[in-house]
Amino acid sequence: MLPAHQGRACENIIAEAFCRPGDLVPMNFHFTTAKAHITRVGADVVELVAAKGLDANNLDPFKGDFDIPRTKQFIKDHREQIQWLRIETGTNLIGGQPISAHNIKEVAEICRQEGIISVLDASLLQDNLHFIKTREEGYKDKSIKEIMFEICGCVDIVYFSARKLGFARGGCICSNNEKLMLRMKEYVPLYEGFLTYGGMEVRSMEAIAVGLYETLDEEYINQGPMFIEHLVNELHSYGVPVVRPAGGLGVHLNASEFFPDMPHGEYPAGALGAAMYIAGGIRGMERGTISEQRERDGSERYAPLELLRLAVPRRVFTLSQLEYVADRVKWVWDNRELIGGLRFVEEPSVLRFFFGRLEPVSDWQQKLVKKFRADFGDSL
Ligand SMILES: *Cc1c(COP(=O)(O)O)cnc(C)c1O
Repeated sequence: MLPAHQGRACENIIAEAFCRPGDLVPMNFHFTTAKAHITRVGADVVELVAAKGLDANNLDPFKGDFDIPRTKQFIKDHREQIQWLRIETGTNLIGGQPISAHNIKEVAEICRQEGIISVLDASLLQDNLHFIKTREEGYKDKSIKEIMFEICGCVDIVYFSARKLGFARGGCICSNNEKLMLRMKEYVPLYEGFLTYGGMEVRSMEAIAVGLYETLDEEYINQGPMFIEHLVNELHSYGVPVVRPAGGLGVHLNASEFFPDMPHGEYPAGALGAAMYIAGGIRGMERGTISEQRERDGSERYAPLELLRLAVPRRVFTLSQLEYVADRVKWVWDNRELIGGLRFVEEPSVLRFFFGRLEPVSDWQQKLVKKFRADFGDSL
């Protein structure tokens, strides 16, 4: 095990160790920081998620699956440029949708046959374990521990953000392949700290250990998905467009369906995020084009899904807080024609969604506030 101070620090080490300029890294879907590290060292990511994963209304239980025929063909056509492949459990950017154990094993086996290093980003594995157990044929009678071992045992490298898997701080890279560990190891003192702590305090390492044991408890890991499902069902019953089936991580509002006529370049998911904050003080996370990075030639890369994620972390919210959110989302949905787009006033070149600043393209925010006051008065 190699310790790092965050999940993205693991991605840095893996990109440094296994990417050459011009390489391609296949994956079901990218994650922002994973992609930023890979492109920083001159390689590129290629997304091979099955078509169902990019359809917010497809009810397949495992929308994070790789498209296996496309994956095989892609590797055949580009084998020289591929050193490693990344499997993300619980696809962060496309609605927290799980990948099936069957699909993970199939992809790992393709990598083994081709001599490609298989890397599992297990940051969101916790919810994914719950979905495998409850949704996948043949897993109902297996323990979470057995499923975890089965999945992690079929890949070469597992890494994760311990803020999520582990519920503490830091990140870890795990492998039982000595050769691969040797290649990654030297970057720990370069970027993190000494090999035994990697930029973490000992108490964080102890907390991660407790968190990982907790992750084996079904009654603990089902809490997030059950809360998310409750809110998804309620919003769906109001006609609000949400990614379905309910996945992990949070509830994902489908901004493209809120604003079918808004130009894509005016960032519909960002606009919805601003509106939710105005209407309820609810801080969603844009998971659409603002969260993408521009192409190398500077052109905008439009996200295939324009989502606003309302994260529902376990042990944080009560049901009545979710009821409040449902009420405000419904109000925003009912008043969606008042909402307009955004444009950047300050656009950082790296991970622009963290520090970027945007402004409304018109005075729509004032109109929305006016309607809010008309409906709610000064009662708040
Ligand atoms: C959060 C996350 C990361 C990065 O982890 P940090 O600890 O925030 O750096 C990597 N991959 C996925 C899938 C994540 O959700």
